[in-house]
Amino acid sequence: AKLAGRNQIAFFNPAMTRELARRKEIESELRGAIQRDELALYFQPIIDLATGRIRAFEALVRWFHPEKGELTPDEFIPVAEDTGLIITLGNWITRTAARACASWPGDVHLAVNLSPAQLRAPGAALGISAALRDTGLDPARLEFEVTESLFVEECHETTVFMEHLAAIGVRFSLDDFGTGYSSLHYINKYPFSTIKVDRSFVSGPATGLRTEAIIRAVAEMGATLGMEIVAEGLETADQVAGVRAAGCTLGQGYYFSRPVPEHLALRLLEEERGL
Ligand code: C2E
Ligand code: CA
Ligand code: CA
Ligand code: CA
Repeated sequence: AKLAGRNQIAFFNPAMTRELARRKEIESELRGAIQRDELALYFQPIIDLATGRIRAFEALVRWFHPEKGELTPDEFIPVAEDTGLIITLGNWITRTAARACASWPGDVHLAVNLSPAQLRAPGAALGISAALRDTGLDPARLEFEVTESLFVEECHETTVFMEHLAAIGVRFSLDDFGTGYSSLHYINKYPFSTIKVDRSFVSGPATGLRTEAIIRAVAEMGATLGMEIVAEGLETADQVAGVRAAGCTLGQGYYFSRPVPEHLALRLLEEERGL
């Protein structure tokens, strides 16, 4: 670091400068990516652990960049959030995912990730209602996944938004459960139907008796409160058996399927149901 001014140190180093340049580049290219048709939604099945059948698909966005190749959402969603592009992007995601779900059998649900900025934007609930109306999707088949980062700022709009959508039948799940600080507080305060136990509890290095006890306690609470408990990141048959024994009702992970493009999601459904 070199002295940039009185009492001020410039912390920029070459790696950070490169990172900044990359973000700038992603920002400017993301603006055109939707129009250029470079974005796609992939779908990962969420399995009913009691029956082994597909209960829902989670929509996960992908960006196939003509030069950079496939970019993961962790690379561009934060940029979209910082620049406000997430509003346009999020509307596209909800609409595209809802259209796909509307073509599936009626008991198959849809999970869509929602960024905090998306739901604080003025008219956010209107955009979602419009997507539901235009695609004809039954609101009861839609579940929004939010993380507790949504609640760091106490925000009246958040409550209004969630209650408005909950009133028309849309459900909410608390994603990445267990990675934050006060998840129990949020479960108590907001209308969540589902808890998604973070992958780190299932397949992290620290899994064992302790994490099993935690999952069991969460599942027990879920059962008492009438909530579904999804175990994320299931990669092995042992993990599936473990979370099932611990009382999780739903499971998701590479063991069942990786996220796949829409036509393969449809094929998974056809194979399962002999359609
Ligand atoms: P998330 O919502 O927690 O999504 C789960 C992530 O875990 C996905 O990564 C998924 O591909 C991955 N995963 C699923 N099963 C397994 C497994 O068995 N093992 C391992 N190692 N990983 C598994 P992905 O698609 O790269 O998404 C990363 C994050 O980006 C998501 O985490 C979510 O926070 C965000 N994201 C993805 N799509 C969207 C979107 O459409 N909108 C918003 N706002 N955020 C999104
Ligand atoms: Ca999620
Ligand atoms: Ca998650
Ligand atoms: Ca996550």
